[in-house]
This record gives sequence, C-alpha cells and structure tokens, in this order.
Amino acid sequence: MTKIPRVNVHECAGCGLCTIALSEVFRMAPEGKSEVYAPDKADKAAIQKVMKDCPVGAVLWYDDGKKAKE
Ligand code: SF4
Repeated sequence: MTKIPRVNVHECAGCGLCTIALSEVFRMAPEGKSEVYAPDKADKAAIQKVMKDCPVGAVLWYDDGKKAKE
C-alpha cells in the first residue's frame, strides 16, 4: 500500500507554508486550512521536508486510512 500525506485539519494553523512550498500537492481549503489535493505530484523527500517544516506537525503520512510512520 502506498503511503500518502494528509493534513490534520484540527491541528493545521492555516499558515499556508505547505501550500507555498509544494503548491502542486497542497492548497488552502475554503475553511482556511490546508489540504492535500494531489498526493502523487511530489516525491517523498519533498513531502517529508514539508512535514518537518510545518510549525504544528499537521502533515502526516497515512497508509490505508491509518496514520503511518515515515
Ligand atoms: S504548514 Fe502546517 S499549519 Fe501551515 S498550512 Fe500547512 S499544514 Fe497547516
């Protein structure tokens, strides 16, 4: 199963950092929170960097609907 990134909307602070860093993967939803709209548009390393840089750790890997380790 392929791991995909997701944004925990309860944790997301809406800073927009991930949407600027990887606009091909993340975008701001109308509620002012980030969302993943194209999880396959960047390589794992680039997504991993966004996860690390998110100030509240809201971007996480999911595997088959469950939270996964990197
Ligand atoms: S970097 Fe983190 S807090 Fe900022 S918009 Fe993205 S998911 Fe939300």
